[in-house]
Amino acid sequence: MKRRNFIKNASLTGVALAVGSALSSCAENTSKEKSSSTKTTNENIKVSLPLVIATWDVRQSTEKAWETLQQGNSVLDAVEQGCKVAEADKKNQSVGNGGRPDRDGNVTLDACIMDTHGNCGSVVYMQHITHAISVARKVMEDTPHVILAGKGAEKFAIEKGFQPEDLLTEASKKDWEAWKKTSNYQPIINIENHDTIGILAMDKNGDISGACTTSGLAYKMAGRVGDSPIIGSGLFVDNEIGAAVATGLGEEVLKTVGSFLIVELMRQGKSPQEACEEAIDRIVSKPNSNYKNFQIGYIALNKKGETGFYSIHDGFTMAKFQDGTNENLKSDYYMKQSS
Ligand code: ASP
Repeated sequence: MKRRNFIKNASLTGVALAVGSALSSCAENTSKEKSSSTKTTNENIKVSLPLVIATWDVRQSTEKAWETLQQGNSVLDAVEQGCKVAEADKKNQSVGNGGRPDRDGNVTLDACIMDTHGNCGSVVYMQHITHAISVARKVMEDTPHVILAGKGAEKFAIEKGFQPEDLLTEASKKDWEAWKKTSNYQPIINIENHDTIGILAMDKNGDISGACTTSGLAYKMAGRVGDSPIIGSGLFVDNEIGAAVATGLGEEVLKTVGSFLIVELMRQGKSPQEACEEAIDRIVSKPNSNYKNFQIGYIALNKKGETGFYSIHDGFTMAKFQDGTNENLKSDYYMKQSS
């Protein structure tokens, strides 16, 4: 059987298996449709709104985003505020303050944000500023540019009132010093090494925004930038269609412009789940793909408020706040189907 057909069948099997399972976004959405009591101005939307989803178990972030919406703030505020919780958490060693450094010992942050009008802002390789996502928003709102990098991004942030800080915590410094003994650069499959926070939210009117923030892969080369701050790769939002965000080995997401691909697949009629599965399929189907040794996870949301998520390996999860319930859902994954 050709791989593409196999994936299609596998995904159908996955959906069938998921009936009755709280882990299936399809099944879950169906049940939410029935229980939804929220009225929305968009009659295509049958799910309860607002709705927040995020990569990995970042339920404090989804809760913050949800609360931000409940307080009447914009959906852009919600995704920014959600990201800020993770950025400020020094125990989170993959995002913001406390992130693991590059191989020279510098913590360098990447982040991007997109609003409901298709505007976007991004910072890459920025040091010394905890809230990279807020700087990305300022780039979007206060400059004629989309991306600011390195020293320029830091200078801009300080001009805007952000306080420079040392982002390298004792814990991350210790890990880096231990790593230097072997200097073996081997991206680890799951959250030990990557847990970029990507948040997508839909407000009660059905409008969507997204944000993504990370310290990138631990012990990357100095100057390395991954997918997370690159619009279309790490994040893409089209308020007419939906949105997607990525986590995992950024180099592989960049090569397939993963988030844009997912939104375009949804535009062609695929569900968020099908679109995430096809985007993973593009990566694993490449000749000589080394996919057994790296993780990629995608989450997506369409204009009807349906959600999907999929990864290459076991271990990926999606946090979802809807109907007053904050859940961490385990993702279906490619290796399960192929083993
Ligand atoms: N995608 C991020 C990067 O490649 C890593 C991650 O998801 O943790 O920088």
